[in-house]
Amino acid sequence: MNAPAELRHWLSDHWDPELSLLQWRGRLADAGWAFPAWPEQWCGRSLPPAEAASVARELAAAGVPGPPDGVGTVLAAPVVLEYGSDDLKRRLIRPTATGEVSWCQLFSEPGAGSDLASLATRAEPGPDGWLVTGQKVWSTGAATADYGLLLARTDAEVPKHEGITCFVLPMRQPGVVVRPLRQMNAHSSFNEVFLDGAFVPSQDLIGEPGVGWRVARTVLAHERRLQAQRPAAAPAGAAGRTWREAIAERIAASEPHKWYPQRAGRPDLVIEQARAMGMAADPVIRQEIAKLLTLTWPARWMVERFQAGWAAGQNPGPEGSLAKLASSRIARQSARVHAMIAGTSGMLAGPDSPLGGVIAEIAVSVPAISIAGGTDEIQRTIVAERILGLPREPDASVGVPFRHLAR
Ligand SMILES: Cc1cc2nc3c(=O)[nH]c(=O)nc-3n(C[C@H](O)[C@H](O)[C@H](O)COP(=O)(O)OP(=O)(O)OC[C@H]3O[C@@H](n4cnc5c(N)ncnc54)[C@H](O)[C@@H]3O)c2cc1C
Repeated sequence: MNAPAELRHWLSDHWDPELSLLQWRGRLADAGWAFPAWPEQWCGRSLPPAEAASVARELAAAGVPGPPDGVGTVLAAPVVLEYGSDDLKRRLIRPTATGEVSWCQLFSEPGAGSDLASLATRAEPGPDGWLVTGQKVWSTGAATADYGLLLARTDAEVPKHEGITCFVLPMRQPGVVVRPLRQMNAHSSFNEVFLDGAFVPSQDLIGEPGVGWRVARTVLAHERRLQAQRPAAAPAGAAGRTWREAIAERIAASEPHKWYPQRAGRPDLVIEQARAMGMAADPVIRQEIAKLLTLTWPARWMVERFQAGWAAGQNPGPEGSLAKLASSRIARQSARVHAMIAGTSGMLAGPDSPLGGVIAEIAVSVPAISIAGGTDEIQRTIVAERILGLPREPDASVGVPFRHLAR
């Protein structure tokens, strides 16, 4: 029996719509159906990526709630599986696979975003573990997360890429203070995180001390997959306790991210807006819409090609930067067309404004897509160096101990 057929058979015996969401996800994880590409002993079935993808499609088609998505399952668990100790896997993989614990990513700092390897948060060894001091910023979901996937400097005497270590930071402790940031679109998705002697048990490192940069690169490559994945919608007529809890979880989890469709520029609304505002015959508007469509279609094909490559077992590589750049250009062009169609009324928010404020929200949300997950300039550098083979950007920090770098 192939894996999707086996899953269908398993579902007929194990799906019970009155289980709690946690119990249901526990069953999925224990049977290895939640993340079938993960190793057999760690909530998976060691299936090759293409077969794991067909299992995920089968699960979505079966009309049952799937495993949790987000930083825990897409970024943290894969690096715990790749670099973590068995003890860490035993404690963290199942609760992450069931959604019992949630994660945030503590990478960026006020002085280290594009140049992430210049991060200055430091972790010093104490009697039973590590004491972490510094500041993180832009940390999406940090206000509600149980654990932070943390990068901190453990050695300032070696060049900047060599002195970084990746930690599992328990977020709910006195040394961690999280302050939500209010964005220009009035939402609050990310936070500042202040670390003042925050404690990490000595065994809670992901990989050895000093290999954090390698772990970080793996996380950043997976991050593009996170942006490409969205959970399947609940089927019409979804009923029972499991679905009620799954829908409630999805609503709560998407609350801070309600603006994410707007940051993508809402190209899906452009033609209907042009018609609604009587602008569909305007030659300039038509030309701008045509420009938008010529960006959108090839980008869709490109993403489908990458997804087929991932499903066939290829690791996410530098080509993800092309997809990310394409999404930034589409978002900007779409925001431009919306602004041309709406005119000055596009600046209004509230119930009487165009599309109940959605057009104004597009204008103030689109800049985020050119920043999150690495700015457009950084993606261009990656394309230039790793795809086109152009000379590398000069780097004055090579071979210089972090402590001696001008910052
Ligand atoms: C919506 C959103 C969610 C995010 N979520 C998280 C999160 O959960 N966790 C986390 O750790 N971080 C998160 N980030 C942070 C994000 O990764 C950083 O904002 C990003 O890497 C840029 O860093 P910076 O903001 O410090 O800008 P800087 O690095 O200070 O850049 C400022 C400007 O200088 C340009 N620049 C910098 N270096 C170069 C160069 N070498 N060549 C050419 N131009 C350059 C940049 O392109 C940019 O235009 C998030 C950001 C956004 C917008």
